[in-house]
Amino acid sequence: MDLMEKIVSLCKRRGFIYPGSEIYGGLQGFWDYGPLGVELKNNIKKEWWKSMVYQRNDVVGLDAAIIMNPTVWEASGHTQAFTDPLVECKSCHHRFRADQLVGSQCPDCDGQLTEPKIFNLLTEVYLGSTEPKTKTYLRGEITQGVFVNFKNVVDSSRVEIPFGIAQIGKAFRNEITPGNFTFRSREFEQMELEFFVKPDENEAERWFLYWRQMRIEWYEKLGIKKENLRFREHSLDERAHYARKAEDIEYNSPFGWKEFEGIHHRGDWDLSRHKLTYKDYTPWVIETSGGVDRATLFFLLDSYSEVGDRVVLKLHPKLAPYKVAVFPLVANKENLVNKAKEIYKNLKSVTVTLTVTFDDRGNIGKRYYAQDEIGTPWCVTVDYQTLEDDTVTVRDRDTAQQERVSVSQLDSFFASKLN
Ligand SMILES: [Zn+2]
Repeated sequence: MDLMEKIVSLCKRRGFIYPGSEIYGGLQGFWDYGPLGVELKNNIKKEWWKSMVYQRNDVVGLDAAIIMNPTVWEASGHTQAFTDPLVECKSCHHRFRADQLVGSQCPDCDGQLTEPKIFNLLTEVYLGSTEPKTKTYLRGEITQGVFVNFKNVVDSSRVEIPFGIAQIGKAFRNEITPGNFTFRSREFEQMELEFFVKPDENEAERWFLYWRQMRIEWYEKLGIKKENLRFREHSLDERAHYARKAEDIEYNSPFGWKEFEGIHHRGDWDLSRHKLTYKDYTPWVIETSGGVDRATLFFLLDSYSEVGDRVVLKLHPKLAPYKVAVFPLVANKENLVNKAKEIYKNLKSVTVTLTVTFDDRGNIGKRYYAQDEIGTPWCVTVDYQTLEDDTVTVRDRDTAQQERVSVSQLDSFFASKLN
């Protein structure tokens, strides 16, 4: 099995990610996050929000609606320019993006291809219960929700340029060829910052470089290996219709270097299309646009390791779905089980930052392996000595080393590890 197959299988088996609507044969380009996947994904979003909003005084948050007045998408240029060229094979009827094809024959059957047809990526929706229904779209990017609220935010809060608006939310693209697991999906979540600056080349350049650096450091701090990250500047013909300058932070994935996040200089494209100004000028925008689903996938890929016959997900503790697992040394000794349950309950209740699980199945070795495989950084084991001196062993996922910690100290022990 290659790494990608191992990750897909692990995600399904342990409850990180399932194919969407699986019992009805699935739906291409849609995925569901299971009990562990939703924790990992929420942790990524939490860390992002913390660094982009809570730890700054020049960024505020927003949560705009997914469905907007269709005029928004005309003004933003998406109904015209948000397109991919599509070709179809005349023999097997498979569809491809013309800009991704190497030859002029079908890559699946060598058949003849149709002329490219322009295909809009916006997903149409129809509102209302009587005809004619109002046609609008599921948002193709979350960004426009920020721009159309620019004046609201300026008028209702104390922001002054330069400042940013951060948002996390779902977006939808009618992709012709979704693929590479969750990397290219039709429904996905974005985490984006729109940072408004004075319309000045030097100012824009300074903030572009600043955010590009901040964003790559964020991935590094959360454990992505440096050698798996790089910047790549977009050439003129691959830039989106709104971008004056664009650079990607890329990840060295099993299917090639792929976009983790884009840093874009959008100039005054959006605000001027929406006829919005600040004081007597139209601000420029530096955008950082990351995908939550691809971040989840890349954090999983990057943390995957095999130690002998053990699979260890070396996720950063802040991202790990469970921080701590609690076990009784053996399952059939009632006093050990009761003590372990008591410790489990206490850890669960004392702190909101600690997600804790309990396991008393099989033998202790197997339980360690099962926690390693889902990235739990610490395992607490209640043994016979616990009953005598109220200490437990704490095992570290990455070193497999154990140390004895007093039960009354556990809370502060994990709190200090996590900070
Ligand atoms: Zn074909």
